[in-house]
Amino acid sequence: MVIRSTCSKCGIAIKLDFGNLTKEEALAVAERLDNEPRECPGQHMELSGLGRLWRAEDAIHRLYDLGEGEEAEPIESDEEFVSRIVAEGKEVFDGGLNTVPGLGLPSIHDLKNLDHIGFGNFQSDSHVFLRRDSPRGTRFYVREQRGGNPS
Ligand SMILES: [Zn+2]
Repeated sequence: MVIRSTCSKCGIAIKLDFGNLTKEEALAVAERLDNEPRECPGQHMELSGLGRLWRAEDAIHRLYDLGEGEEAEPIESDEEFVSRIVAEGKEVFDGGLNTVPGLGLPSIHDLKNLDHIGFGNFQSDSHVFLRRDSPRGTRFYVREQRGGNPS
Protein backbone atom coordinates (compact mmCIF):
# COMPACT_ATOMS: atom_id res chain seq x y z
CA MET A 1 0.00 0.00 0.00
CA VAL A 2 0.99 3.59 -0.62
CA ILE A 3 0.66 6.49 1.77
CA ARG A 4 1.05 10.17 0.89
CA SER A 5 3.21 12.55 2.86
CA THR A 6 5.07 15.78 2.24
CA CYS A 7 8.67 16.76 2.89
CA SER A 8 8.65 19.15 5.84
CA LYS A 9 11.74 20.94 4.49
CA CYS A 10 10.82 21.62 0.84
CA GLY A 11 7.09 20.77 0.77
CA ILE A 12 7.28 18.34 -2.14
CA ALA A 13 4.66 15.57 -2.19
CA ILE A 14 6.05 12.17 -1.29
CA LYS A 15 4.44 8.77 -1.82
CA LEU A 16 5.79 6.05 0.42
CA ASP A 17 5.15 2.54 -0.91
CA PHE A 18 5.37 -0.15 1.75
CA GLY A 19 4.01 -2.89 -0.50
CA ASN A 20 2.87 -5.83 1.62
CA LEU A 21 5.12 -5.10 4.59
CA THR A 22 3.84 -5.46 8.11
CA LYS A 23 3.80 -2.36 10.29
CA GLU A 24 6.94 -3.54 12.09
CA GLU A 25 8.75 -4.05 8.78
CA ALA A 26 7.60 -0.60 7.59
CA LEU A 27 8.96 1.00 10.75
CA ALA A 28 12.30 -0.72 10.12
CA VAL A 29 12.33 0.75 6.58
CA ALA A 30 11.55 4.19 8.02
CA GLU A 31 14.46 3.84 10.42
CA ARG A 32 16.80 3.07 7.52
CA LEU A 33 15.51 6.20 5.74
CA ASP A 34 16.89 8.14 8.69
CA ASN A 35 20.31 6.58 8.98
CA GLU A 36 21.80 7.10 5.54
CA PRO A 37 22.48 10.20 3.43
CA ARG A 38 19.62 10.62 0.96
CA GLU A 39 18.53 13.02 -1.74
CA CYS A 40 14.98 14.37 -1.64
CA PRO A 41 13.18 14.75 -5.01
CA GLY A 42 12.87 18.40 -3.91
CA GLN A 43 16.63 18.60 -4.59
CA HIS A 44 18.26 18.79 -1.22
CA MET A 45 20.68 16.29 0.24
CA GLU A 46 20.28 15.21 3.85
CA LEU A 47 23.24 13.49 5.49
CA SER A 48 21.07 12.25 8.36
CA GLY A 49 18.39 10.81 6.09
CA LEU A 50 14.84 11.74 5.21
CA GLY A 51 12.54 9.69 7.43
CA ARG A 52 11.90 12.48 9.92
CA LEU A 53 11.60 15.19 7.24
CA TRP A 54 9.15 12.98 5.35
CA ARG A 55 7.17 12.27 8.56
CA ALA A 56 7.54 8.55 7.86
CA GLU A 57 6.42 7.41 11.30
CA ASP A 58 3.25 9.49 11.09
CA ALA A 59 2.65 8.15 7.56
CA ILE A 60 3.01 4.59 8.85
CA HIS A 61 0.57 5.35 11.67
CA ARG A 62 -1.95 6.73 9.16
CA LEU A 63 -1.41 3.78 6.82
CA TYR A 64 -1.57 0.90 9.31
CA ASP A 65 -3.66 2.29 12.16
CA LEU A 66 -6.04 4.69 10.39
CA GLY A 67 -6.36 2.90 7.05
CA GLU A 68 -5.51 5.95 4.90
CA GLY A 69 -3.38 3.98 2.41
CA GLU A 70 -4.03 3.72 -1.34
CA GLU A 71 -3.37 0.97 -3.85
CA ALA A 72 -0.12 1.52 -5.74
CA GLU A 73 -0.63 2.78 -9.29
CA PRO A 74 1.21 1.11 -12.15
CA ILE A 75 4.55 2.82 -12.66
CA GLU A 76 4.89 4.72 -15.92
CA SER A 77 7.44 3.19 -18.31
CA ASP A 78 10.44 5.20 -19.49
CA GLU A 79 8.97 5.28 -22.98
CA GLU A 80 5.68 6.73 -21.70
CA PHE A 81 7.58 9.21 -19.53
CA VAL A 82 9.82 10.46 -22.35
CA SER A 83 6.96 10.53 -24.86
CA ARG A 84 4.96 12.70 -22.48
CA ILE A 85 7.84 15.22 -22.11
CA VAL A 86 8.46 15.25 -25.87
CA ALA A 87 4.73 15.92 -26.39
CA GLU A 88 5.16 19.05 -24.24
CA GLY A 89 7.58 20.28 -26.90
CA LYS A 90 10.73 19.60 -24.87
CA GLU A 91 14.02 18.43 -26.27
CA VAL A 92 15.00 15.29 -24.35
CA PHE A 93 18.50 13.79 -24.03
CA ASP A 94 19.26 10.31 -22.82
CA GLY A 95 21.29 10.18 -19.60
CA GLY A 96 23.38 7.23 -20.76
CA LEU A 97 21.30 4.16 -19.94
CA ASN A 98 19.55 4.13 -23.32
CA THR A 99 16.39 2.46 -21.99
CA VAL A 100 14.27 3.75 -24.89
CA PRO A 101 16.44 3.12 -27.99
CA GLY A 102 13.33 3.19 -30.18
CA LEU A 103 12.89 6.91 -29.54
CA GLY A 104 16.34 7.75 -30.95
CA LEU A 105 17.23 10.25 -28.25
CA PRO A 106 20.60 12.02 -28.46
CA SER A 107 22.90 11.08 -25.57
CA ILE A 108 24.17 13.70 -23.17
CA HIS A 109 27.48 11.81 -23.15
CA ASP A 110 28.08 12.81 -26.77
CA LEU A 111 28.14 16.49 -25.83
CA LYS A 112 31.43 18.24 -25.13
CA ASN A 113 32.30 20.97 -22.66
CA LEU A 114 29.36 20.66 -20.29
CA ASP A 115 29.74 22.11 -16.81
CA HIS A 116 28.08 20.42 -13.84
CA ILE A 117 25.90 22.99 -12.07
CA GLY A 118 24.68 20.84 -9.17
CA PHE A 119 22.10 18.09 -8.56
CA GLY A 120 22.99 16.37 -11.82
CA ASN A 121 22.18 19.42 -13.97
CA PHE A 122 24.62 20.63 -16.65
CA GLN A 123 25.13 23.67 -18.84
CA SER A 124 26.91 24.52 -22.08
CA ASP A 125 27.66 27.98 -23.45
CA SER A 126 24.16 28.25 -24.89
CA HIS A 127 21.91 25.78 -23.05
CA VAL A 128 21.10 24.19 -19.72
CA PHE A 129 20.47 20.46 -19.39
CA LEU A 130 18.01 19.88 -16.60
CA ARG A 131 17.84 16.45 -15.05
CA ARG A 132 14.47 14.70 -15.19
CA ASP A 133 14.39 11.29 -13.53
CA SER A 134 11.70 8.92 -14.75
CA PRO A 135 9.39 7.18 -12.24
CA ARG A 136 11.57 4.10 -12.75
CA GLY A 137 14.64 6.07 -11.74
CA THR A 138 16.24 6.48 -15.17
CA ARG A 139 17.99 9.78 -15.74
CA PHE A 140 17.05 11.95 -18.69
CA TYR A 141 17.77 15.59 -19.48
CA VAL A 142 15.68 18.38 -20.96
CA ARG A 143 17.65 20.94 -22.97
CA GLU A 144 16.60 24.58 -22.65
CA GLN A 145 18.07 27.86 -23.82
CA ARG A 146 20.15 29.66 -21.23
CA GLY A 147 18.67 32.95 -20.07
CA GLY A 148 15.78 34.38 -22.06
CA ASN A 149 12.52 32.47 -22.20
CA PRO A 150 12.58 28.75 -21.66
CA SER A 151 11.41 27.05 -24.83
ZN1 LIG B 1 12.45 17.77 0.49
